[in-house]
This record gives sequence, C-alpha cells and structure tokens, in this order.
Amino acid sequence: MSKWQTWVEQAPVRIADGAMGTMLQQAGLDAGELPMLWNVTHPDRVRAIQRAYLAAGADIILANTFSGSRWRLARHGLAARGEELNRAGVEILRAEIGDRAALIAGDVGPSGEILAPLGTLAFDEAVAGFAEQVRALIVAGADAIWIETMADLEEVRAAIAGTRQVSAEIPILATLTFDTRGRTMMGVKPETAARTLSEWGVAAFGGNCGNGPDELLVVIQKMRATTPNAILVAKSNAGIPEIENGATVYRATPAMMAQSAAQLRAAGARIIGGCCGTTPAHIAAMADIVRGGG
Ligand SMILES: [Zn+2]
Repeated sequence: MSKWQTWVEQAPVRIADGAMGTMLQQAGLDAGELPMLWNVTHPDRVRAIQRAYLAAGADIILANTFSGSRWRLARHGLAARGEELNRAGVEILRAEIGDRAALIAGDVGPSGEILAPLGTLAFDEAVAGFAEQVRALIVAGADAIWIETMADLEEVRAAIAGTRQVSAEIPILATLTFDTRGRTMMGVKPETAARTLSEWGVAAFGGNCGNGPDELLVVIQKMRATTPNAILVAKSNAGIPEIENGATVYRATPAMMAQSAAQLRAAGARIIGGCCGTTPAHIAAMADIVRGGG
C-alpha cells in the first residue's frame, strides 16, 4: 500500500493545518512581502508555525510554497529563484516532521493569470509553469501535491497535467474556493467540480478559503451527494473576512470552528483543516472534536 493510502485508510478522519499567511503576518511578515521568501530569510519562523500545527494534531501540513509558480514569483522579481524557494519550503517542513507520520504537501496556488481564451495564459504554458514548480517540490521530498484556492477548473487541469509530467504516482489534492454565491469566482459549481475532479483521478478534493465554514458546509454536502465515495477536503477560513482598520480580520473562535468541523465531518469531509484566520488553537480544537467522536 502506498504511503498515501495507508495515511487515508488508517484513520476515519485526517486533520490538515490552518493558515500560514495569517501566522506569518503575526510573526512580522509585511503586507506585500512574498511569504515564500521567508523560506530562506526566516526559516526558523516558518518552521515554528509548522511545529505548532503538528503539535495541534495536524496529519498533513502544506509547505510554504503557495506562490511558487513562475507567474507569482515574477510579480515580486523572484522568477529566477523558484527552484530555491520551493525546495526550501519543503526542506523546512521535512526537517520538522522528521520521522512522524504526517504528510508533506507541496502547496500549489493559482497562477494569478487567466487562461486563454478568456485571458492570455496558454494552456501548454500553464502546464509547463506548474510542472516547473512541482518538480522542485517533489525533488525536495513532497509526499503529495495540493493544488488550492483555485477558481478555474481549466487551471486545475493544467496543474494536474504539470504534476503528471513530473510524477505518475504522487497523490494530488485539489481544492477550489466557492466564495461567489455558492460557486467559484469563475462560476464553477461544487457538483461540477466534484464530478470533474473525480474523473481526473484526483486523490482528494473539496474547498478551501472563502467565507467561512457555513458556506463550505453546503459545498461539502453537494459534493458528497455527487461523488459519495470521494475523499472530501474542507479547509475553511475562520468566518467571513471583515476589514478593520485596513486589515482583514476573521472572527470565528476555536470553539466555533470546532463545532463547524463536527458538522463538516458529519457531512462527509475526511480531511479537515483551516484556511485564512485559523491558528494552531483553532486546529487543536477542531482535531479534538472530530477525533473525539464528534
Ligand atoms: Zn484562505
């Protein structure tokens, strides 16, 4: 049995980590600074956050590589350092996990571009760009590739194709953000995403980010009804983002997120974590309730 299959099958529910960006900001990351740069400038701080998520009970941790595609890096003048920054992200996490059973997920976020014909990014170019990032993540030791915060299924398809150029076997997780009246920004419905991602052979899929767990609960219910046997993933923000003094704040407490985690679990989510605004305290409370028979 593969490491992934063992990991999935040996527990009824798995806990993912919470926010990285939120925690990096608390640790001093400036708005506008690329979080990935901290993999080389402040690896100790990145590692401390991941250590806290492991202590909170997370079974899968995302490497700090969300913006590691060539397009995102180019916006920060860092296009030439993609291999270095992606590799460093996985190496920090690998060192922290050591011989624990937790999985290392290479984090692949959106390109920030719009695919042709609506936008200018050609599909083949997107595949090549994602393959480049994924190669660095896999060479450095990622156990899985987690494509996240996506709005466009074509872009997910490009990221999957890029991953498969590098590895035929590595498990792929894919989560979209259903933050626009129950659909993604590009209009994708949860049912369509579930059917399509299932056909594409993605190991686990679901939703992340967005407007809090109530919104994601509906997504999970619809996906469950569409693909009853799929391994569904729920990684919600800590409530609806609100702007306060120019900063984005999230108000759901650990207790509130724990209650929501129990609902997501009951609705069929098998991998449950948090996104923006969630902290190790949130993840610890969520892990407690879903593992305690909630
Ligand atoms: Zn988020």
